[in-house]
Amino acid sequence: MQLTDSLGRNINYLRLSVTDRCNMRCFYCMPKEGIVKKGHDAVLSFEELQLIAETAVELGIEKIRITGGEPLVRSGIVGFLAKLSAIPGLKHLALTTNGLQLADMAADLYKAGLQRLNVSLDSLNAATFAEITRGGDLVKVLAGLDAAEKAGFPPPKINVVIMRGINDAEILSFAEMTRLRGNSIRFIEYMPVVKEDGWQKYGISGEEILERIAASYPLEPVDKGLYAGPSRDFRIPGAMGSIGIITAISGHFCSDCNRIRVTSTGQAKGCLFSDEKTDLLPCLRPPNPEKLAGLLRGIVSGKQERHGISCDSYQHKNFTMAQVGG
Ligand code: SAM
Ligand code: SF4
Repeated sequence: MQLTDSLGRNINYLRLSVTDRCNMRCFYCMPKEGIVKKGHDAVLSFEELQLIAETAVELGIEKIRITGGEPLVRSGIVGFLAKLSAIPGLKHLALTTNGLQLADMAADLYKAGLQRLNVSLDSLNAATFAEITRGGDLVKVLAGLDAAEKAGFPPPKINVVIMRGINDAEILSFAEMTRLRGNSIRFIEYMPVVKEDGWQKYGISGEEILERIAASYPLEPVDKGLYAGPSRDFRIPGAMGSIGIITAISGHFCSDCNRIRVTSTGQAKGCLFSDEKTDLLPCLRPPNPEKLAGLLRGIVSGKQERHGISCDSYQHKNFTMAQVGG
């Protein structure tokens, strides 16, 4: 079955958040003091998350990415992934992590049937990394990358949020990882979700990132896969990994949008930046798979054409990425 929205976009990808808690405090994602802790009952149980996943796959979702907050801090996550990976019809199961606990967990995650890992890593310099993450330990994340490959995963994709004056001097070092280590790199434009005046100073467009790499290496376009989503991908000839830019701010990628999102509290969204959300709780407590399917179909058919954020339209949204799952 295919899930198609009112604009003919094929919606095959669900981002499912399992927690909004995190063991880091990246300054662009969370306030220093963290976010207000939710009561135990507010967060969906694994059974409820599983029902959402199964229902979405029955409707036509083929890829699920587990995200957060930091998904690896939720206890029981490995057993949950093992159940998800057994859903008939689910073709891709991936997880995005900050990598802090990956060295310890990679082997179990692989055994659970997880197919791909994305690791968020904004600097290869320990001091800069600690500054961006407010205390994160780069050595642990690098050990996590090694452990993932040792466990059997393909080289994790690396998500890098590039910010002018903070880590933009490292663009080339990250690009070189695609040749030297085989990781694919996704450069993400900084998005203004944590309230900060003058956020535009960090802005650096995907085009500028590509130009800076192209000054040192030729880049060839790469055909992106079926579930790849909104990045534009390139490759340094001969490199195993690709280089992608996610131009959330400078260029809308909404025409290629293939995804819906569900937060760890059961709020479903058709667009990351939309204020509209649908509460799935009434279909989960008690469970009502038919009604749930109807709500998910409604979220797909109601997906907006494009989001309204740009460098000129200064806006802050009243959520953190950790609450929605990036
Ligand atoms: N904790 C996990 C991690 O960091 O990979 C998963 C959740 S995190 C919210 C998902 C992604 O959102 C990360 O790659 C992070 O860099 C990105 N992100 C968070 N806040 C952002 C912002 N303001 N602008 C751009 N990307 C952001
Ligand atoms: Fe945590 Fe990920 Fe947000 Fe950083 S980006 S604070 S690791 S949820």
